[in-house]
This record gives sequence, structure tokens and C-alpha cells, in this order.
Amino acid sequence: MALYRHLLLAVDFSPESIYIGERAKALAETSGARISMIYVVEHVPLDLSNDLVLAQPVNIDQELLEDARSKLDALADELGLGDRPKIVELGATKGEILRVAEENDADLIVVGSHGRHGLSLLLGSTANAVLHGAKCDVLAVRVPEQEKTS
Ligand code: AMP
Repeated sequence: MALYRHLLLAVDFSPESIYIGERAKALAETSGARISMIYVVEHVPLDLSNDLVLAQPVNIDQELLEDARSKLDALADELGLGDRPKIVELGATKGEILRVAEENDADLIVVGSHGRHGLSLLLGSTANAVLHGAKCDVLAVRVPEQEKTS
């Protein structure tokens, strides 16, 4: 029996994403799991009710989503995962990762222990939130200092 059947890799496009992705890929291969990737575009509602008038209506969410899709495609290609499902969602990062994991029967979520939001003494905020909310296993990958490029 496969150790895991479906691994969901959450990425934030930080330089550490490659290291985390490579470990997730190796784990998926050795455990016989399929792998999907997710990036969440944090939704920041804009209040344009004051005097700000845009010259043209701009669908910012749509632009962010398109930008995220091309970044996720590029990262997946770099990891050799270009043919795997790549999911981009708009919303709250923790909630979306957990929802997508449940809806797709993921039995392992892989996150970095710290991401772009910098270092906290324990786990990063997303890793911590996912760990506490997930109904499946969660792997928080710690990136060694020498692997960090910025
Ligand atoms: P942080 O909590 O920001 O330190 O990030 C820790 C880890 O959470 C990252 O290494 C990613 O695996 C994941 N993560 C953070 N932000 C996102 C995001 N917007 N979409 C998907 N995964 C994310």
C-alpha cells in the first residue's frame, strides 16, 4: 500500500520553493503518491469609495491570478512537475490550502517551515495554521541556511 496517495505542495515563490519542491517531489516518488501544487493569491479587497477614480476599470484580481499562473507554471517546469495539476486560488492562504486539500483528497500537505513572511521563532504563520487546521498529515520542510539564496 502506498504511504501517501496524493501530496499537495504549497508554494509561495520564495527562493526556498525549489528546495521544498524537490523534497516534496522525492517524497512523492518514493511513497507512490501523485503530486499537485497550489499557490494562493491573498485577496485584498480594495475600497475605492473615496475620490479615487481609475481611468479604466482594472480587474486587479484577474491580473494577479494570471501572473500567479505563469509563475506556478515556471516553477513546476523547473521542478520537473510541469505536467502535474497546478492550482491557483484567490482568498485566504490557510483556508484555501486546507479546502483544496480536502476537496482533492490530499493525504499529505507539504509547506515550508518559513516562507516569504520571514522568520518567527517557531513555525511560519502559514505552516503553523495549516498544521493546526489540516485533517491530513502535514510536512513542514525546514530549509538549511546554505540552501537559502536570499
Ligand atoms: P510563511 O508562513 O509565510 O512563513 O510560509 C510558510 C510556507 O507556507 C511557505 O514555504 C509555503 O509552503 C506556504 N505558503 C505561504 N504563502 C503561501 C501562498 N500564498 N500560497 C501557497 N502556499 C503558501
